Amino acid sequence: MTEMLACPSGGLDKTESIIHRGSYILRCAACGETIVATSFMAMLDSDHQCSAFIDPGPGKHPSPETLVARGPFRQIATAISAAASDGTLIRLISEAKV
Ligand SMILES: [Zn+2]
Repeated sequence: MTEMLACPSGGLDKTESIIHRGSYILRCAACGETIVATSFMAMLDSDHQCSAFIDPGPGKHPSPETLVARGPFRQIATAISAAASDGTLIRLISEAKV
């Protein structure tokens, strides 16, 4: 997950975690390019502390009032998938520094 992959725009310094319907996507914060996509289901047994927001777009910080859920991933997964089910992009922000 910390592995940095080449970005077509060259300016990759940061990735963003996005949930889109049933997919977990890593997106370049600089250009919005999708870097890695995997199944949302693969994340479900994680106790990682995180916050989910309505995605404001690449490189932008979500505002507090767009918070969808906060807590261990396995506990907020239902709220996230409900919010993402209509195609809304959900930004996942990790709370814990590993
Ligand atoms: Zn990029």
